[in-house]
Amino acid sequence: MSNDWKFERRRQRLVQLLRDKGIEDERVLAAVGRVPRHLFVDEALIARAYLDEALPIGLDQTISQPFTVAYQTQFAMSGLAEGARVLEIGTGSGYQAAVLCELGVDLYSVERLEPLYRRTRDLLRSLGYRLRTRCGDGTQGWPAFAPYDAIIVTAGAMSIPDALLQQLRAPEADPDTGASTPGGVLVIPVGGSEGQTMKRIVRTGPNSFETEEMDEFRFVPLIPGQ
Ligand code: SAH
Repeated sequence: MSNDWKFERRRQRLVQLLRDKGIEDERVLAAVGRVPRHLFVDEALIARAYLDEALPIGLDQTISQPFTVAYQTQFAMSGLAEGARVLEIGTGSGYQAAVLCELGVDLYSVERLEPLYRRTRDLLRSLGYRLRTRCGDGTQGWPAFAPYDAIIVTAGAMSIPDALLQQLRAPEADPDTGASTPGGVLVIPVGGSEGQTMKRIVRTGPNSFETEEMDEFRFVPLIPGQ
């Protein structure tokens, strides 16, 4: 039995598990079903790659649990189509970035740790994923390519960085129909080291935002500065 086939079967079982746990967006499930997660973990951990758990990736960081990746992606992408401009903070292993690329978004991703940034940039490139990556402090966002339709933060924040709110797309009225396009959405886990509450914040105007609080998670910390 070839390894590819073995991994394909495990991946489809993972997709079914995510479905059972409540992930409903078929686009997200299909994307998880295509990304070879075993290539994003250390070789010693390959046997665990398709279990629904976070795993160490070195430098005290982790590859997020598949459920968490699917959950954040689903909430960021609701109402968005292919070609939407998305910013990820915390590239880490690159797994979340690969899932977003599979959804056909125009992706930008920032990682603070230089060695991780380099390794992951090369891995994503070798797998054929096209996105822009940068090494820097993601709490500042990535102003050069703003505004974004969605921003996903994959590390736990003590508070919501204002730069990220400012880089969300503001809603705009369509001159022909008068209907307004939706504002950008920020999906960010907020809280201390004991755990964080996932928040979904939608920009409703130049200076107005609507916040929805969702489930509890536990992420590695979002560390401001470099
Ligand atoms: N999305 C990743 C999750 C990695 S864990 C994945 O799918 O594997 C979170 C990552 O956020 C870590 O790599 C950590 O170094 C990074 N990080 C923490 N603070 C950051 C900051 N201020 N700017 C950018 N990245 C940051």
